[in-house]
Amino acid sequence: MKILITGGAGFLGSHLCDFLLSKGHSLICIDNLITGNITSIKHLIHNKNFRFIQRDITRSIDIDGDVDYVLHFASPASPTDYLKFPIETLKAGSLGTHKALDLAKEKNARFLLASSSEVYGNPLQHPQKEDYWGNVNPIGRRAVYDEAKRFGEALTMAYHRCYGMDTKIGRIFNTYGPRMRKDDGRVIPTFITQALRGEPLTVFGDGSQTRSFCYVSDLIEGVYKLMLSDINQPVNLGNPEAITILQLAQKILEITGSKSGIINRPLPDDDPKVRQPDITRAQGMLHWSRKVPLDEGLRKTIEWFKN
Ligand code: UDP
Repeated sequence: MKILITGGAGFLGSHLCDFLLSKGHSLICIDNLITGNITSIKHLIHNKNFRFIQRDITRSIDIDGDVDYVLHFASPASPTDYLKFPIETLKAGSLGTHKALDLAKEKNARFLLASSSEVYGNPLQHPQKEDYWGNVNPIGRRAVYDEAKRFGEALTMAYHRCYGMDTKIGRIFNTYGPRMRKDDGRVIPTFITQALRGEPLTVFGDGSQTRSFCYVSDLIEGVYKLMLSDINQPVNLGNPEAITILQLAQKILEITGSKSGIINRPLPDDDPKVRQPDITRAQGMLHWSRKVPLDEGLRKTIEWFKN
């Protein structure tokens, strides 16, 4: 297939580019590099099946020739990044999704939206199933990401219903692995960097909040299965095992053998207290679930950060 991916120089986008090229597809990768990193795709630049275009997806996109699939991954994705770029985040999820859907419609292509567990906000249902509508503060600081993803989902379903387009929505839960930026603010790269530098690990709040961390190779496989499926409803993709942030900090100290301690910092506004995917739909309809245990994934990620 000829696949266009927005946000292809980002953490997930770049891994997806590698994976899709390894499956024999040809790619057009669009990224404005606001939070993406050209180094993550520089090994692909001379691949004849890969073309990189540096462009803002919220502006018009003209692409010559056929496109079989549009994957919309462009958006700042870590709380630190989207708080730094609030308007850009809202635009990537709204105007960006609109442009990407229009392109898919024009090319008669299939479409996949990289949505997020953030659509569930600070969830009152636990674990979260796809039919849960969420608990989002629409005017909070995190709303720039949460509401943009929610709007993106609504727009995607509207294109599916109005134009009969074949669209997919993957709700991606916390994912980690090589190529995350040290300074992207997410908890795993932050804790690893702190542990390797011998600095205290900054646990926000008392660390009792939970997250479920999925290793990137598992996530990418889930996205690919969703792409090829005939499911048009949202599908949760993530690791169904939750861990507290304090336990995560202790685990990273143990694996790195670091002598760094732990210090507590204030909990950011609207930080979800719990988050854990119910992946019954992905297991049943995609025959997908995560394979890489957290300890193994953390070891690989720590090795990458060391190098
Ligand atoms: N967190 C933390 N210390 C940090 C960074 C994050 O304790 O230095 C916490 C954060 O408050 C949240 C969890 O770790 O409860 C996951 O944060 P992250 O930014 O990775 O992603 P989120 O799940 O909030 O989107």
